Amino acid sequence: MNPTRRTFLQAGALGVAVVSQTLSAQPLLHFPSAELMPKGRQRRVVIVGGGWGGLTAARHLREQSPDLEVVLLERNPIFWSCPLSNKWLIDVIDTQFLVHSYMIPARRHGYTFIQTEVSDIDRARRRVHTAQGYIDYDWLVVSAGIRYGFEAWFGNDQQAADYTRTTYPTAYIPSAEHAAVKQKIRDFKGGTFVMTLPPPPHRCPPSPYERACLMAWYFKANKIPAKIVILDPKPIVAPITAGYNLAFKELYADIITHVPKATIKEVDPFNKVVKTAAGDFKFDDALLMTPHQAADLVWKAGLIGKTPQGTPTGWADVHPLFYNVKDDPQVFVIGDSVGAVSPHFGHYPKSGHVANKEGRAVAQYISQQARGQALTHVMIDNLCYMLVNNTPREAISVQFDYKLGADGLLQQTQIDDNQRRPELWQEDLRWVEWMYQDFLKA
Ligand SMILES: Cc1cc2nc3c(=O)[nH]c(=O)nc-3n(C[C@H](O)[C@H](O)[C@H](O)COP(=O)(O)OP(=O)(O)OC[C@H]3O[C@@H](n4cnc5c(N)ncnc54)[C@H](O)[C@@H]3O)c2cc1C
Repeated sequence: MNPTRRTFLQAGALGVAVVSQTLSAQPLLHFPSAELMPKGRQRRVVIVGGGWGGLTAARHLREQSPDLEVVLLERNPIFWSCPLSNKWLIDVIDTQFLVHSYMIPARRHGYTFIQTEVSDIDRARRRVHTAQGYIDYDWLVVSAGIRYGFEAWFGNDQQAADYTRTTYPTAYIPSAEHAAVKQKIRDFKGGTFVMTLPPPPHRCPPSPYERACLMAWYFKANKIPAKIVILDPKPIVAPITAGYNLAFKELYADIITHVPKATIKEVDPFNKVVKTAAGDFKFDDALLMTPHQAADLVWKAGLIGKTPQGTPTGWADVHPLFYNVKDDPQVFVIGDSVGAVSPHFGHYPKSGHVANKEGRAVAQYISQQARGQALTHVMIDNLCYMLVNNTPREAISVQFDYKLGADGLLQQTQIDDNQRRPELWQEDLRWVEWMYQDFLKA
């Protein structure tokens, strides 16, 4: 361990604070001075991030407010869905199920798609800076997803972070990592395969367990002598506790070991060792999931909340019902970057379903603001299906409903469907088709 890493690990839970220092200590950026897209007479909504939240907001804004100009900025050339990508890893679905053109929905719904890296947001000037120039906005929606918090493990040891991301990728952000993880599963010849789970909150809470099940199914089907060790900081498997525990026991008892309370103490990717509060684990191969946080851009734009002690929460500080940032009714953050919305349960689940519902909601809020109307709050929900077996195809699911309590705060009801069965897999396919129709196809 180098001194920098040791210093950091001694700081323990201060991981998030170190991130903010790292980001704010960066030298001033020099932005291209050209205007990316001059503003005409129309009022303009700029959306940053063409994922589940941003694409939904773009489509519904155009539908509800045809008089507004809508511009979607996204770094990737094509849309890649994380939902259902676990199934793609073992060929339950093919690539065209996950990959979609940005051009087609933009043309169909009449918004402008620009492929570019957004480098900063100047809220005082209502201006977004990109790799190609700046663009001014009247309303701004940020749906930029998550970042990996490697600092929590390695401090500012960039070499360890880069090595880990390249060698033990996790594919929790739409990127080239997905192909690398798929290849990793194909190449595994046997031995111990470790999965570290991030501490909550993180992107799609039930999905790492689904991935473990599908990898176990693949290893079993291909007679690969593998042991999958899930290092989970939580005390139990959650959500869908009983459904997953049954799948681990009944389908993969000889392959999957779930280790609870395995809070990470040290990760040594070079010597293939993970040290946790539940013991030390050596591995032959691994998917090393760091803590998740709001996307880098949310940090750069100064939109991260603070704990009562004054340290960064790691997530955007927004109004729990309307998603606007606290000091600006015309700047919204939606999707996985959103911070805690209620003291009763903390965060909404970080899911594509929630990002879609929030995208629809902000489209309504912006349309109401544009017409000078009072905002009417839209209540969201969440629904996730997880495939745990491939022969036969059987899934389990979890649903979350929300309402405002008598105390004026959001309350959550969780319904786990633990009985694995083929009908839930069919429902999953209908769910994703409905979602795609909503923000990509129809
Ligand atoms: C394995 C896995 C399985 C999942 N399964 C499900 C499921 O079954 N159901 C479900 O509901 N959810 C599921 N999810 C969760 C879902 O993928 C996320 O919750 C959802 O994508 C969040 O939407 P978002 O808009 O916040 O972020 P994303 O969809 O990640 O979109 C963010 C976009 O912003 C872009 N971006 C970020 N920064 C910049 C920048 N500076 N400049 C330009 N572009 C930028 C990114 O490239 C990205 O396209 C799963 C996730 C994973 C990883």
